[in-house]
Amino acid sequence: MPEVRSFSEFRARRFLKEQLMRPVKAGRIVHAQLFQGPEGTGKHTAAKLLARSMNCTGLGEKPCNLCPSCLQFLSGNTPNLIEIEPEKNVIKISAVREEILKKIALRPDFGRMFIIINEADKMNENAQNALLKTLEEAPEYAVFILLTDKPGALLQTIRSRCAVYRFAPLNEEETAEILKKAGVDEKRAAQEARISEGSPGRALSRIKSEIYKDLYVRSISAFESIKGKKDVSAAFLKIADDKDSGREILDIYEFCARRMMRGEMGEDKRLKGGKLLESVINAKKQLKANVAYQSVMEILFFDVAGQEETINGNGNRRPL
Ligand SMILES: [Zn+2]
Repeated sequence: MPEVRSFSEFRARRFLKEQLMRPVKAGRIVHAQLFQGPEGTGKHTAAKLLARSMNCTGLGEKPCNLCPSCLQFLSGNTPNLIEIEPEKNVIKISAVREEILKKIALRPDFGRMFIIINEADKMNENAQNALLKTLEEAPEYAVFILLTDKPGALLQTIRSRCAVYRFAPLNEEETAEILKKAGVDEKRAAQEARISEGSPGRALSRIKSEIYKDLYVRSISAFESIKGKKDVSAAFLKIADDKDSGREILDIYEFCARRMMRGEMGEDKRLKGGKLLESVINAKKQLKANVAYQSVMEILFFDVAGQEETINGNGNRRPL
């Protein structure tokens, strides 16, 4: 699903949108914000947009998505953004110390350092107290954004230090619009919008997991159909339309290879799993180096076919 590129693409109530754009226009932001509202109403999207915009060095509308800072943000690898989220449903004091305190001590080369705390209400009491202290003492380049759907679970002393942004569920039409922008077809978008209670985020993750399930079934079916080199072209046809999901398909094969290696698919598959893993890792490298999708997959399938022919000789292959 593509990242929301600009505030004009971002769907929210007008008041909220104006509130979000105010610091961007002014070039100033208070050092702690609380984004509160139900799950899937754009809090995380808005936090990332805001962080990117406040660090954008482009001229004109921000974020420009072209300057070095924007590109770093879009690549998901920037020293100006720290994100923390619960582990096993809790954010502990160690996360505040290790992930926040240590990292904000290092001043970034330029701009502001944003700390996005996802599901901030999952901080336990110790973590909240440590955060409170951090908010009081943080360097001026640090900007905190706390996201939560349960603001009442945060200490009053934390809430009172934050500028509060209220995220509200969207109406059906707005939700459908967001889903369509994310590539969902019109009919499905309308259906999902009706049942999503104004939460496009929730609808998108449901759609995404269904898409993944279909991809999984196709990928495995392609793999299992290879009994010899003559089957490679037909196997590729099963996933020929999944060019944009090449990386995910290879992840699925890697997952299978590791299961085989651990003996979870039968003791006799351990060795085969190891060989498959080697081929998959190689395929991932090629895909990353921009080798064409079809070539990458066919080379991988030829490897698999080669192993099949060596191991079985007669081409009678047991299913994965
Ligand atoms: Zn920029």
